[in-house]
Amino acid sequence: MGAIQALRGTRDILPEEVAYWQRVEAIARGVLDRAAYREVRSPLFEQTELFARGIGEATDVVGKEMYTFRDRGDRSVTLRPEGTAGIARAFIEHGLHARGTQRLWYGGAMFRYERPQAGRQRQFHQLGLELIGCAAPRADVETIAIATDILRALGLQRLRLQLNSVGDAADRQRYRRALIEYLTPYKADLDADSQGRLERNPLRILDSKDERTRAIVADAPSILDALGSESQAHFTAVQQQLSDLGIDFALDPCLVRGLDYYTHTAFEIQSDDLGAQATVCGGGRYNGLIEQLGGPVTPAVGWAIGIERLVLLLQELTPPPAIAPDLYVVSRGDRAEAQALVLAQKLRHAGFAVELDLSGSGFAKQFKRADRSGAIGCLVLGEEEAATDTLKLKWLPVQEQTTLPQAQLLATTAELHARLNSLRHQ
Ligand code: ATP
Ligand code: MG
Repeated sequence: MGAIQALRGTRDILPEEVAYWQRVEAIARGVLDRAAYREVRSPLFEQTELFARGIGEATDVVGKEMYTFRDRGDRSVTLRPEGTAGIARAFIEHGLHARGTQRLWYGGAMFRYERPQAGRQRQFHQLGLELIGCAAPRADVETIAIATDILRALGLQRLRLQLNSVGDAADRQRYRRALIEYLTPYKADLDADSQGRLERNPLRILDSKDERTRAIVADAPSILDALGSESQAHFTAVQQQLSDLGIDFALDPCLVRGLDYYTHTAFEIQSDDLGAQATVCGGGRYNGLIEQLGGPVTPAVGWAIGIERLVLLLQELTPPPAIAPDLYVVSRGDRAEAQALVLAQKLRHAGFAVELDLSGSGFAKQFKRADRSGAIGCLVLGEEEAATDTLKLKWLPVQEQTTLPQAQLLATTAELHARLNSLRHQ
């Protein structure tokens, strides 16, 4: 019988890689806390209709990528392909608009049926943020600044912020007509996907990856020329305030988010260190979403960072975060092993990270594993130590060794902590 493997587009994240994930999460949490954002957790699956209404039938996500199935009660259920629709539903369901501006963040798995490749999976993870209830350009800028803070705090340098405005619904309607008018004579030359989008979702043609389509799109009218005066003022303010914060950006009039509820600011943060999947963060304003889902008219802005892509970058740039115990316990012989088990437990209760060698193998092999573990101290219990209730304490980085009563070690844990710290930072 063949061994069962993980499904295509899903992967296991093993401990060495998890260390990177935890670093991302810890740094992001710090930045978000300091900006007064609070975590929310919404379900991993929702009624299919939430995404159909909230993301839009004409998008790739809803049209081609959703994991949709009927549950045992014959309801159509979908694994969440992104986080915003669920948060918007929760905002409405819990009447959060009554509590003033909401600064929320979330993290977790998302599901899209895509063609798997590096940085593109079927189960992937996002960290996202939503600032709901504020229409001011400052809100757009605050969220962008938080994304850049997180990425910079992680040590990423070669980042590019691409910025655009997709205007309000009226601007988009006007632009949509101009775009269809411009593209229609070229219809036969567009790639097949773009031909299909011409009537349904022509803005999406702007970010086609097909070369011939791109050449045609290069001379298309710019959405920035179609903005009404209010949209123009909003966009100008966003650019000014980004400059005030020293955040560089480039305008990209072809940057249109795939999701229909976006209005005004759209942005992406890309990295020159990633290949084809260059975008680590995508976001923008979505003033139309909450109303479209049956809630009160509510302005909002947010973004999502793809954690897999971020971790790929970090693995290139930085050594793996160390995951080593403070102390490694080596023992041999029945009595020594029994004492070592108790000692390790007491040391953990005193705040040390302790790895107990359970192999029962010879001392030489256990010492080798102690070295490889990265531990600072190695505790050794053999038959002799067991008979006298003592142990050997070896400081591995300096190859120093003392013998002392077990009770003494447990009575002087403050000194042990101090010595560990000084050796760790040598
Ligand atoms: P793309 O153009 O790369 O498909 P998208 O526009 O579909 O991206 P968003 O919906 O804006 O992406 O999601 C935000 C971020 O989530 C992306 O910038 C990316 O980092 C990450 N992401 C999206 N889809 C995937 C996926 N299938 N696998 C891994 N990460 C993903
Ligand atoms: Mg996509």
